[in-house]
Parts: sequence; C-alpha cells; structure tokens
Amino acid sequence: MMSYEQIAELEERRLVPTYKRLPFMAVDGDGCYLIDDKGKKYLDFLGGLGVNALGHAHPEMMGVLRDSSENLLHVSNLIYHRFQAPLADQLAKLSGLDRVFFANTGTEAVEAALKLARAFGRRHSEERTGILAMENSFHGRTMGSLAATWPEKYRKPFEPLPAGFRFIRQNDISHLKRNFSPDTAALLVEVIQGEGGVVELDEEFLKTGQELCREHGALFICDEIQCGLGRTGSYFAYQQMGLKPDVVLVAKPLAGGLPLAAILARDEVAQAFHPGMHGSTFGGGPLQCRMALKFLEILQRPEFLQHVRQVGSHFKNQLFNLQKELPVIRQVRGQGLMLAAELSIPGKEIVQQGVEAGFLFNCTQEQVLRFLPPLVIQQQHVDELIDVLRSILISVSSIEKKGVRA
Ligand SMILES: *Cc1c(COP(=O)(O)O)cnc(C)c1O
Repeated sequence: MMSYEQIAELEERRLVPTYKRLPFMAVDGDGCYLIDDKGKKYLDFLGGLGVNALGHAHPEMMGVLRDSSENLLHVSNLIYHRFQAPLADQLAKLSGLDRVFFANTGTEAVEAALKLARAFGRRHSEERTGILAMENSFHGRTMGSLAATWPEKYRKPFEPLPAGFRFIRQNDISHLKRNFSPDTAALLVEVIQGEGGVVELDEEFLKTGQELCREHGALFICDEIQCGLGRTGSYFAYQQMGLKPDVVLVAKPLAGGLPLAAILARDEVAQAFHPGMHGSTFGGGPLQCRMALKFLEILQRPEFLQHVRQVGSHFKNQLFNLQKELPVIRQVRGQGLMLAAELSIPGKEIVQQGVEAGFLFNCTQEQVLRFLPPLVIQQQHVDELIDVLRSILISVSSIEKKGVRA
C-alpha cells in the first residue's frame, strides 16, 4: 500500500490543483478521532467540514451500510424505491414544511432553490426574478450558487455569472428594505454564516426579511446546509428564532457522510415545479436515503440535541475564558457545536500546529478558527482542545510579537 509521502507526491502530479491539504493521510476513523497511516490519532473538530455529525464509523450508520436486505445502490428517479418518501416525510415533519426535492450536494440544493424561486416568481410576473443574497455569504461553487456567494475571489474568475443577484449588508435593515422590489423573487440567507466565519444574523433582521418576502410575494429561503440538522442544538437554526421560511436547504450531515442534499418547500411553492422542470440522476438514491433515515432517527432521540446544547455551551464558555486570558482572541461566536474564535493574527499557522499536536480544526476568513466537531463529542474532548489551543496561541502570539515570523 502507498504511504502518505507517495500519495502526496502522486497527487501533486495528477490532481487538478484545487486543494491545499493538511499534511497527513487519513486511513481510519473511530468516533471523534481520525487515524493516519502512521497510527497517529487526531481529535476531529473539523468533522469533515460539518458532515460527520455522528463522528467516524458510528456503529448504527455502518450497520445500515452493511445491511444488504435490499441490493439496491441506485435505481434512478424514474422508479420508486422504499426510502425516499419516508425520508421526505421525516424532513417535512422536522421542518414544518410540506414537500422535498432531493439532490446530492449543497450547491445543487441551492441551484434547485434558485430555480424554484424563479419558477414561482414567474407565476406572478415575468420580471420577478431578482435574488437578494447576503454579504459574507457562501452558497457553493456552481454558477448559480456562486452568483449568490459574496467573496469576489470565488466569483470573479468565472464571470459572467447568472444575472439578477444583489447583496445585502448583514443585519442592515434599511439596506434590506431599499433593495426589495416587486421584482424580488427570493431572499437567500444563512441564519449563521458558516464559511463567512460563523457570523450570526440578528433575529430582527431576519424577521424583517421574512416579512418583506411575504409583502412582496418573494420566497424566504434559509440555507441550513451547515447550520441545520442539529448543529446549533435545534433541528434547524431558524427554529430558534421562530422563523417560518418558504424553502429550507440541507445537505452536509444528512446522509452520514454520503452525498445527499434536499430542498424543503411549502406546498404552494413546490407546485411551481412540474414534472420535467428539474431533476437529478443520483439525487435521493436508496442507500443515501437509508443512511439519512438512520441519521434523523438518531438525531430525534431524547437528549441528543440536549447534548449538543450542553457541550456547545461548555465549549463556548471555555472559548470565552480563553479570550479573557489571551488578547489574541478577538471574538468568540456561534451556537451549539458551530463555534468560532476570531483571532488578531492569521489562523493558518495555528491550524498546522493543531495538526502536529493531533487536533483538527480549520480556518476561514484568514483569521477565524472554526469548530464543527461531531455532535457526539464529549466535554473532556473540548477541554483537551482548549488546553492545546491555549499553548499554541501563547507560543505563536509571542513569536508574532517579536516579529520573527517567517
Ligand atoms: C458547504 C455549503 C454549501 C455548499 O455545499 P457543497 O456540498 O460543497 O456543494 C452551501 N451552503 C452552505 C451554507 C455551506 O456551508
């Protein structure tokens, strides 16, 4: 078998250079730990970018994978199978919405929602096509999602993008009001902006957005791809603010590590699509749906979300305590187990040192350490991370002060 060094060398020559990887190769996973080819263990606060909500190799999820009572991996959406309808039913019940469309990845869910918004808008007027998105947003890498994604570095190289998108300043109600018009088809928000550095939108701002959508016949769309499905301690982050979106998007953790995404919509809105208007070859396949049914079953067990809230609030308190000790931490943000510490120095070096110490987390927006651990993480794991973070931050910020950084 090839070693990490051999694989890294081969990737360097053979992969399209889209990723900078961390300097190790995962070969196994066990709960909250990843294990590399040398047998080193890493406590995982990256969680596969918010996907591994149950950690690695969860016995019940692995059980679903192994159970071959039905030998179906794929049938296409031309044929019924046993698992899509019950999964849609579960998602509808958890969200309070009515109908579900299945895609594979987050960005596809966003595309489906944008198309639905325009199809729905056109039922009222040909001009109702405008999409309002947020500054600091991230919705994915395909052309439509990119058009709704804020950082120029993601968008600029690929212009021209689909037209009709405008960006609203976060939590700026008057900017929001000024940008609504009869041509607005949708307002697209992340209740907590993930890639943007775990930035929470205000309840008042979001409620105003929802009202303006109602007044203008536009769709209020919550992208819960990162903050949804238990991550913040409730099934959906919008539920904590009593919001009632017309469309909700989920993906990352939905099928326990397999690609599956969904858009959930009000009945009247969903009716804007009719057969043939949208589709997906792979979306909602039997294996993914079975995995997702198991994930949602586990998510709904008594005390599961309570655990997320408890460990999350302990984690956030520990980050606040660290902030009091270390001025290099500018701000602590987030809900549940979607947390971040914004630094006054670049975070990249901290991430590297974390890896060396056997701890995984990532850095967004250059200076924001973001934590998306498995939702089954324990308080003692959090305490271990905090101790390591303290010593890394002390050593790096003292080097930083002396100005001897390479
Ligand atoms: C990750 C993410 C996406 C894109 O998901 P992909 O599966 O990478 O296409 C969209 N929206 C949000 C909020 C995300 O965090």
